[in-house]
Amino acid sequence: MSDSTENNFPKGGLMHGKRGLIMGVANKNSIAWGIAQQLHAQGAELGFTYLGEALEKRVRPLAESVNASIFTPCDVADDASMEAAFAEVREKWGELDFLVHSIGFAGREGLKGSFVENTSRENFKMTMDISAFSFVAAAKLAAPMMKPGSSMITLTYLGSERVIPNYNVMGVAKAALEACTRYIARDLGPKGIRVNAISAGPMRTLAMAGISGGRGMLSTGKDWSLLKEDTSMEGVAGSALWLLSDLGRSVAGEVVHVDAGFHAVGMPEPQAVTE
Ligand code: NAD
Repeated sequence: MSDSTENNFPKGGLMHGKRGLIMGVANKNSIAWGIAQQLHAQGAELGFTYLGEALEKRVRPLAESVNASIFTPCDVADDASMEAAFAEVREKWGELDFLVHSIGFAGREGLKGSFVENTSRENFKMTMDISAFSFVAAAKLAAPMMKPGSSMITLTYLGSERVIPNYNVMGVAKAALEACTRYIARDLGPKGIRVNAISAGPMRTLAMAGISGGRGMLSTGKDWSLLKEDTSMEGVAGSALWLLSDLGRSVAGEVVHVDAGFHAVGMPEPQAVTE
């Protein structure tokens, strides 16, 4: 144990002097954007990747509002596109202190009804590729630029651990993503790079809109949760700040639930059952 007088607790401006890449902002409701705003407020210098021209119009003004120094397209389903995005980071910054991977996608037909009936081989492969493998690919490209003390996070959901109606193939991909988090953490741990995941409760975003019955996820999430409230963007962004800043020292290979306590509940309150 270290002497308490030797502790070097961070005081404020927790991300001062740190540069990081945010992957996964589609619009102002994106979880990645909530995280980006929190990191910016704590002094981080940010870069953003966005998917394709259609989203550029939405993401550019957001990136400009936090004085982003990198703004580059990146389709994680395409190796060349990923390499080009990280080449830009290498050229402009040389070093990277943190990475936010907030990307997921599945064909809509796989996000409703029967998992067995509606999961095609093609959709299974694509969902795994974009929603799980892309974190491995991003880690491979980011790690050589990262010094000890750097940190990466990804975003996952409880559908990886429990059956959530309609989440289906995405739940399988999230289980893979969480396992990837642990294996990436194992590889990068000796280099002093921490890798973790945030398991966020349901939030109103574009990705959520693609899930059949997404509204039910939101209302059940609130009614069953320990806090009896929706998961807040501030809560998710706050945990991201913790994991990406030096506050998160010694935390690696972890999946942190930020869902108002929903994950801990085995049965709803009796009145909620009878209502
Ligand atoms: P969102 O739609 O705002 O973000 C999803 C992002 O993935 C978008 O920016 C989209 O452009 C990007 N993306 C999809 N395919 C891509 C590709 N081929 N290349 C590059 N980017 C691609 O929705 P969100 O809810 O903010 O989702 C962010 C992450 O959080 C996802 O992994 C999602 O599964 C996870 N998550 C969401 C919730 C929720 O309730 N909204 C809960 C827990 C976890």
